[in-house]
Parts: sequence; structure tokens; C-alpha cells
Amino acid sequence: MAHTVPDISLNDGNTIPQLGFGVYQIEPKDTAEAVRRALEIGYRHIDTAQMYGNEAEVGEAVRASGLDRGEVFVTSKLNNGFHRPEDARRAFESTLSALKMDHVDLFLIHWPLPTRYDGDFVSTWKTLEEFQRDGRARSIGVSNFQVPHLERLAAEADVVPAVNQIEVHPYLTNEQVRAYGSEHNILTEAWSPIAQGRVLDDPTIVDVAEQVGRTPAQVVLRWHVQRGDIVFPKSTTPKRIEENFRIFDFTLDDTAMERLSGLDRGESGRTGPNPDEFDYIPA
Ligand code: NAD
Repeated sequence: MAHTVPDISLNDGNTIPQLGFGVYQIEPKDTAEAVRRALEIGYRHIDTAQMYGNEAEVGEAVRASGLDRGEVFVTSKLNNGFHRPEDARRAFESTLSALKMDHVDLFLIHWPLPTRYDGDFVSTWKTLEEFQRDGRARSIGVSNFQVPHLERLAAEADVVPAVNQIEVHPYLTNEQVRAYGSEHNILTEAWSPIAQGRVLDDPTIVDVAEQVGRTPAQVVLRWHVQRGDIVFPKSTTPKRIEENFRIFDFTLDDTAMERLSGLDRGESGRTGPNPDEFDYIPA
């Protein structure tokens, strides 16, 4: 089928739909409707976080969809204030109760916060290992981890993260972190895949879009999936939610792929914070 989203295998034997729907910055009051629309269009993977404040509405929309729980892949993430193991355990329970689910498909450490908690994210990771062992998190992973953070987990922990969710788009191709992931069987999830819209009027991207008869957003999302990354663009506009889903019935040739990759601006292409420095703890 032209619009089938591939399932890709994680290092723990589970699978994840390569395209999902992100709900960052969607107001709780708008979240259930946006997720309902996404599920109706065919998305089967929702990316939320404790920090987004809309886990309850994600759960509500999944239940209202009439789909079996097993048909929808749900990710959430540990908030920055809860890295200490006791706090992480309580926070994880609050995620499950907000979602009204007995498990999540994937649970992530949202940020490494290397300047907080005496630099200790390893005890936090070992706490996520508990959630996986007891079945309440089918898979576990990290987000915004840089190569030294991943190396430290490899040296001090037992479980290799299934994914690392990092900022990736044509202005920040983030090749070193992606390469570490592919060498160590950690899938890359690309957050802000269209740089929150900032790459969409880039002349190169507009030109490629015209050549293939697609929109700039579709071309950029297609570039990600051909690189093997997982994406979950966010939108509350029904037409765009649908547009972002229609990326499996065309391909970009090598030249087009290279043209998009060539737009990389390195560190100056970031739209979000630098994970080595980010230390925000919500009040
Ligand atoms: P995004 O790159 O998905 O861009 C979203 C914005 O782009 C929308 O607000 C909309 O204005 C615009 N847009 C969407 N589709 C469009 C289309 N077809 N045409 C034109 N404009 C369009 O940005 P994002 O929401 O920051 O990232 C996606 C998801 O990644 C989030 O919802 C969240 O789930 C995740 N995320 C994770 C982290 C993290 O630290 N782990 C950080 C940011 C985002």
C-alpha cells in the first residue's frame, strides 16, 4: 500500500512505526482533537512528554479512537526535575496514570542535564531499566544525549538505549551523534524534523519540492525517512497533519538527498538548546 508506514526494529526486539505524531506545544485543550485527527488519518505512533502537560489528553484520544491499545505506539519522557531514582519512579507512575495505560511503548530520559545532579544520569537510566524489566515500559531510550553521554552509559549500564531522540533537520544534520547511534544499534529519532517550519522556504528545498511535485514539508520528512531516522512532525492543522503523513509514495534520488544534506549549518543550525549546556528544570 502506498501510504503504509514502515515498522522498524529496535535493539530490544520491539518495533516502532517510523512516522509518528508529535504533540509538543499543543495546548492540552487542543491535544485530544489533534491526536484524534492524526489517528483517523492513519498515524499509529504518538510522541508526548511529562513536560508537555498533555499526556492525559493523548490517552483520552487513544481510548476514544476505538483502536486496540496494541495498535498505537505511545512514547513519553521523564521530566527534568525527576532524575533522582525515587522521583523518577513516582513520575513514571504519574505518566501511566495520566495516560490511563498500564504501559508505555517507549520511555525516555528527556535531557541528560550534565550540569545537574552532580552529572549523574546513570542512576536515572538504571531506574528506567527497572521500568523495562517490570514490563511497564516496553522499550527505553534517551533524548538529547551527546556522544560522551552515550559512551558513559555504555561503560556503566547494562541496557543499550533503543533510541536517542535528538534535534535533526537539514540545517542541523547532527551526523556525529547519528553515526554513534548507527554503530551501536541505537535508532535516531529526529525531533523538530522540519525545524519548526524554518527550513520550508529554503530555496534548495523549494526547488527539490517543485522537481518531485511535493510540498517542502513532505520533501524534508522524506529525506529523514530515507536516512533511516524516525520522525513525528507536529501540527494542529488537519490539512498539514494529512500532508505530513503522505510521504511513502515517492522517493528522493541521491542528488536530491545530497542537496538537502548539504544545507547543514552545524551548531549554528540548532533551533533548540545545546544539550551540553541545557539545565532547565520546570518549576
Ligand atoms: P516540527 O519540526 O515538527 O515543526 C512543527 C511546526 O511546523 C508546526 O507548529 C507548524 O507551524 C509547522 N508545520 C508542520 N507541518 C507543516 C506543513 N506541512 N507545512 C507547513 N508548516 C508545517 O517541530 P516540533 O514540534 O518542535 O518537533 C516535532 C516533535 O518532536 C514534537 O512535537 C515533540 O514530540 C518532539 N520534540 C522533542 C524534543 C526533545 O527534546 N526530545 C524537542 C522538541 C520536539
